[in-house]
Amino acid sequence: MRAEGIETVRRILCVFPRYTSSFGTFEYAYPLTDGVQAFMPPQGLLLIAAYLPANWPVRFIDENIRPATTEDFEWAEAVLVSGMHIQRQQMNDICRRAHGFNLAVAIGGPSVSACPDYYPSFDYLHVGELGDATDDLLARLARDPSRPEQQVVLKTADRVAMTDFPIPAYELAEVKKYFLGSIQYSSGCPYQCEFCDIPGLYGRNPRLKSPQQIVAELDKLLECGVTGSVYFVDDNFIGNRKAALDLLPHLVEWQKRTGYVMRLACEATLNIAKRPEILEKMRDAFFVTIFCGIETPDPEALKAMQKDHNMMVPILEGIHTINSFGMEVVSGIIMGLDTDKPETGEALLAFVDESRIPLLTINLLQALPKTPLWDRLEREGRLINDDDSRDSNVDFRLPYDQVVSSWRKCMEVAYEPEKLYARYQYQCDYTYANRIKVPVTPEQKSWANIKRGLIMLRNIFWKIGVLGDYRRVFWKFALGRLRHGDIEGLIASTMIGHHLIMFARDASVGQQNASNYSIRLREASVPAE
Ligand code: SF4
Repeated sequence: MRAEGIETVRRILCVFPRYTSSFGTFEYAYPLTDGVQAFMPPQGLLLIAAYLPANWPVRFIDENIRPATTEDFEWAEAVLVSGMHIQRQQMNDICRRAHGFNLAVAIGGPSVSACPDYYPSFDYLHVGELGDATDDLLARLARDPSRPEQQVVLKTADRVAMTDFPIPAYELAEVKKYFLGSIQYSSGCPYQCEFCDIPGLYGRNPRLKSPQQIVAELDKLLECGVTGSVYFVDDNFIGNRKAALDLLPHLVEWQKRTGYVMRLACEATLNIAKRPEILEKMRDAFFVTIFCGIETPDPEALKAMQKDHNMMVPILEGIHTINSFGMEVVSGIIMGLDTDKPETGEALLAFVDESRIPLLTINLLQALPKTPLWDRLEREGRLINDDDSRDSNVDFRLPYDQVVSSWRKCMEVAYEPEKLYARYQYQCDYTYANRIKVPVTPEQKSWANIKRGLIMLRNIFWKIGVLGDYRRVFWKFALGRLRHGDIEGLIASTMIGHHLIMFARDASVGQQNASNYSIRLREASVPAE
């Protein structure tokens, strides 16, 4: 559904801000690809672009790919921006540049919805999800695109049902320049983990699109040129288990119809391991990765953060079950919890070894606004919001330097090339072997795809196998994969592995943020051309 009944035509520039370099966006892998420049197409901004009146010309710029230029700003009559807290400084910078052209700038998305006061310079604040605030904003821009005299805050009271969402305007994005494709089926999560802002922002009763919408979106992604991996950005894919079960047969059918062109991934709670009927269908739909917020292997800590649902099955058993359905587990881990002890780092490294999870995003605890954690720390006087030199706004129970050095040590040891490649070797031998055997598609056999693979292999062999300082470990793994004819596994593991190794090295010497949510600015903002 689009906004309707608007006659005036406005030219809209949608600008997505740059990310600060982070563990989860895989920058170090990009030079090994055939031209990837950014992580995932932003769902929110592409959704708004699709919602605009059909006769409004739209330009979409992802500044992770290229900065908005003078020509873009001169073309536009108004600018829309969206992003997360970690992009706050870059969003304010886009606003500053747009104002240089006297353009009205509106901001929406999760960051402004949680913290409107982070964005004092914007002309319009769109707080909340797609809904009556969006219609109000578009009506105002249609009437008069010039900058209002003072900031206007529009809050969504009546949300558009997700079943009425238009397909995001994937056609506006340079989809081939993204590391992963993205898609969204549901929004919200029934749990209430203390540190998480999802239930507060999007509710505890997940809202849903229909399976038919998802099939249409997959068709469109394919039409736009997305193949490879597509990530369901849902907060919790099994937030509504019945809905997941309703969707999966449609995904299986779609994969059969299109020849399994996409490898699927999602985020879900670890208690998915208790649902073999879901895991089985996910295997059939060619889900290959699940991100689980394991957070910590310490039961006492899980209880304290209200994440008891992670203990519905013993954690290692849960991971093994998911692996047995062919899906690799990616795990979020948090350090700096109130329950942490001096030996927490050692325990975490033992868990990394035992779980054989290759990719764990290990972050320092950060209190996000609109979370129970924030409220508690505020009551306890333990929020530190005025010290830019810190990687976390939490006054930890343990000394700050001890927590940070423990985090650095964990990053250093967990991502030693030998250890990481041993974990990948296990995944190849056990997890990947449990995947369904999919047919080789005409797309895979096409010259374009072969050329792509050759470019990536050349980059990997040269940059890691010849120039890399861990080439001995690399070749041991790579030759094994080559002997098995597993080129895809070789490319995927070594490419991601390279990012993890290089990022962890930077982290262990203090050159990277210890929190994905930290807004410490380590990169200059993007100037207009
Ligand atoms: S399960 Fe995940 S999405 Fe849900 S509240 Fe906990 S951390 Fe947030």
